[in-house]
Amino acid sequence: MIDVYQEIEEISGVAARKDELLSLHTTFGVGGPCDLMVWVSNVQALKEVITLVRTHSLPLMLLGNGSNILVRDGGVPGVVLRLAGDFGAVGVEGEHITAGAGAGLADVVGKATSQGVCGLDFLAGVPGTVGGAVATNAGSKDVWVSHRLVELRVLAPDLREIELGEGDVEFGYRHCSLDREWIVTGVVLSGYPRSVEEARQGVEDHLGRRRATQPVGEATAGCVFKNPPGDSAGRMIDEAGLKGYRVGGAQISTLHANWIVNTGGATAGEILDLIDVIVTQVRDRYGSDLDLEIGIVGKD
Ligand SMILES: Cc1cc2nc3c(=O)[nH]c(=O)nc-3n(C[C@H](O)[C@H](O)[C@H](O)COP(=O)(O)OP(=O)(O)OC[C@H]3O[C@@H](n4cnc5c(N)ncnc54)[C@H](O)[C@@H]3O)c2cc1C
Repeated sequence: MIDVYQEIEEISGVAARKDELLSLHTTFGVGGPCDLMVWVSNVQALKEVITLVRTHSLPLMLLGNGSNILVRDGGVPGVVLRLAGDFGAVGVEGEHITAGAGAGLADVVGKATSQGVCGLDFLAGVPGTVGGAVATNAGSKDVWVSHRLVELRVLAPDLREIELGEGDVEFGYRHCSLDREWIVTGVVLSGYPRSVEEARQGVEDHLGRRRATQPVGEATAGCVFKNPPGDSAGRMIDEAGLKGYRVGGAQISTLHANWIVNTGGATAGEILDLIDVIVTQVRDRYGSDLDLEIGIVGKD
């Protein structure tokens, strides 16, 4: 591993750190270490890192901002890859927003708003990256990233950077058909023009609604479960009497029952145990299983 680490670190456009704790890079604030965390700042560096990882048959995981993911306490073996540098670029031209996959959604929404481009309000307050948002098709109940997507650039498994068109990828509610071998490198999103004041107001209104109904600012990963068709996971968990229920430092939010909060010092194990309690109680009450919206990775 040491040799590979050195080889990877020597690639131009790469920064790397050994034994990096994932708890520092996930919004839940939990998760053990990976062997190597690697930040790549351009497509060439990305290709070279993947080539080396394949040559050495190392496990590889792509991480955005870690806001839709629960990393187990034993961490993640191998390399965790982050998109930095050029991948953080955001530009607005007319109604179109061009963004690298490593760009933060706050930056995307902020730049669009400052140019009077509306239509991305639903992403305000979502602490993810563009790549993570495409991979999870982030959004609200009815409006998703895929609805605003006009161009999608990816690194294909054969390491060619290509543009995918409509019909190449299937999107649904928190679903994107791209498999793990495909890396989103950038997007063009489209909004619609309004005055800057109107755009700002739309974002403010959205953030206000969030603050009133969600435990924003706490250590969470957003909604833990997908809403079953025509229903609300939060309502079901609430009606099962679980709001505020705790396992160690992990607690079901008293504000929104579909959110789990790390109240301080929770382990991934405690969050997983709390998830088990929710699934079991909801199954007992409703006779159906809730599907996870967050991804669970790593080893115990
Ligand atoms: C306070 C809070 C509010 C939230 N609100 C919402 C909301 O309103 N709507 C919503 O949908 N979600 C919400 N979330 C969840 C989360 O923020 C989104 O799913 C977000 O888009 C995930 O982005 P990320 O960069 O953090 O992805 P990560 O959690 O890092 O990764 C998620 C998945 O995407 C993959 N991935 C990351 N980058 C790429 C890439 N470049 N190419 C291919 N795959 C990639 C990862 O491998 C992983 O499988 C919220 C979370 C929090 C903490």
